[in-house]
Amino acid sequence: MTDLDLVLKEHGLRKTTFRKELLSLFYDSNSSLTAEEVKNILGHTTDKVTIYRALDAFEKTGLIHRVPDKSNLTRYAICHSECSSIKHVHNHAHFICNSCNETFCINDIKIPHIEGAKGFLIKNAKLTLEGDCPQCQS
Ligand SMILES: [Zn+2]
Ligand SMILES: [Zn+2]
Ligand SMILES: [Zn+2]
Repeated sequence: MTDLDLVLKEHGLRKTTFRKELLSLFYDSNSSLTAEEVKNILGHTTDKVTIYRALDAFEKTGLIHRVPDKSNLTRYAICHSECSSIKHVHNHAHFICNSCNETFCINDIKIPHIEGAKGFLIKNAKLTLEGDCPQCQS
């Protein structure tokens, strides 16, 4: 069980009931979430501005990262690596399911080191895969 109070504290974030709920939502999710989905799950009393602000703060402090989305919506997933407010450190692929439109972090696939673009300094490489997720293959 993750100590949400401690995680928020370590990332320099104020502890509010909403932020704890939001963080546990990301820890419990095996895929990723958009602001709209967060609102649908926790919504009721929380306005969108609060959700956007919290997501932004979580991203800036290295708790969650942006993942590609089939419809180009802003979608986030939990960071399992050593991310901080200084920078995000990721080397995994993302998988977009064509059936349920979910995006999954595929931590088992590491992006290979890419070089050879003459004159260009590569600082970041992204790998997005598409297909059917395990739940959608039946
Ligand atoms: Zn990260
Ligand atoms: Zn699926
Ligand atoms: Zn990811």
